[in-house]
Amino acid sequence: MLDIKIELTNAPKQLPEKDNPLVFGTIFTDHMFIMDYTLGKGWHDARIIPYQPLSLEPSAMVFHYGQEMFEGLKAYKAKDGRILLFRPDMNAKRTTKTCRTLCMPEFPEDDFVQAIKELVAIDKKWIPTKEGTSLYIRPFIIATSPFLGVRPSHTYKFIVILSPVGPYYPEGLDPVKIWIEDEYVRAVKGGIGEAKAGGNYVASLRAQVKAHEEGFSQVLWLDGVHRKYIEEVGAMNIFFKINGVIVTPMLSGSILPGITRDSVIRLCKDWGYKVEERLISIDEIFTAQEEGLLEEVFGTGTAAVISPVGHLRWKDHDMQVMDGGIGELSQKLYDNLTGIQLGDAPDVHKWTVEVS
Ligand SMILES: *Cc1c(COP(=O)(O)O)cnc(C)c1O
Repeated sequence: MLDIKIELTNAPKQLPEKDNPLVFGTIFTDHMFIMDYTLGKGWHDARIIPYQPLSLEPSAMVFHYGQEMFEGLKAYKAKDGRILLFRPDMNAKRTTKTCRTLCMPEFPEDDFVQAIKELVAIDKKWIPTKEGTSLYIRPFIIATSPFLGVRPSHTYKFIVILSPVGPYYPEGLDPVKIWIEDEYVRAVKGGIGEAKAGGNYVASLRAQVKAHEEGFSQVLWLDGVHRKYIEEVGAMNIFFKINGVIVTPMLSGSILPGITRDSVIRLCKDWGYKVEERLISIDEIFTAQEEGLLEEVFGTGTAAVISPVGHLRWKDHDMQVMDGGIGELSQKLYDNLTGIQLGDAPDVHKWTVEVS
C-alpha cells in the first residue's frame, strides 16, 4: 500500500456549468497525483497536490528523446451513487508492458490502481453525470534526467490528471469516415507500436492532417511492411462484421492491445458470435464490400467506446458500409459496454471496480 501525502487546494476551481457540453480533454480537476523515481531508490514520495504546472529542466530527457508513456481510463458515477472504474487492473498491466518496451522503470500495478482510486475519490465532485459523460483519467510517466545523450533516464515522474469529459464525438454515436493510409505508416513489428507511447502519436500526425484535409475524421493504418494488412485506427482498434463473423486484426506486435478490444471480443463470444483474430488484408475488405458481405465496421477505444464507421476510402475507392448508418451490433455493444461501465447492466465478468 502506498502512503500518499495529501495537500488539498485552497482555491478550488469552478465546476463546469451543467448545461455546457464538455469538450473532450479541455478541463482539468483540482488535484493531481505525482510520484518520483530515482535510480537506486525506486519510486518514492507519493502525493496528491493541487493541479499545477510542472517545473522541469529544459534538458529533461523527455523533451529531447521522447521517453514518455501514458494510459487512459474512465470513472463513472452510477445511478446509486457508486463510483466505478472499468478494468483499471488492465491499464496497470499494460503500463508494466509499456515501461518494459520503453526502458522505463515499472510502476507497481497495485499502486497504480490505488493512486487512481484515491485521486478520483478526492475529486469525485468533478465526475459528470449527464448521459455519455465521465471522468477521464490520464496517468503518464516522463523521463526527467537533465542530460543530453541517448540512454534511458535515471529519474522519472509518474503523474495522474483527471478531466471531466462529454462524449468523444459531440454528435453522439455517429458513423465516422475513415481514410485508409497507404503512404505513411505508424509502426512496424519490432518497433513500439504495441506500447502506449506519445511517440506513436507523433508518427501518426502527418497522416491524420492529410486525412482531415480530405474530409475524413480518422486514419486506418495498414502494416508497415506490405502496406496491405489492416492494423488499427488512430486511437482505436478496428473490427469488421463480414457475413455474420466478427474479425479483427490479431495482436501482431505493431498494434495497441486495447482494453475495449478485449472486452468487445469477450462480449461477442458471450453472445454466440464467431470471432476471428487474424491477418486481414485490405483486399479482403474491399471484396467483402463489393459482394455486399461487409455488414459492419467499428472502432473500439476508451475515449469513444464504440465508434461506428460509415465510409472508408482506400486509394480512389470509396466504400460505404451498408447504408452508412449505425450497425445493430455496434449499437448493442455500445449500449452494453456503457451499461456495464455505469453499473446499469449486469457485470458478469466483474470488470468494474468500485472507488471506496
Ligand atoms: C489507447 C489506444 C487504443 C485503445 O485502447 P483502449 O484500452 O481500448 O482504450 C487503441 N489504439 C491506440 C494506438 C491507443 O493508443
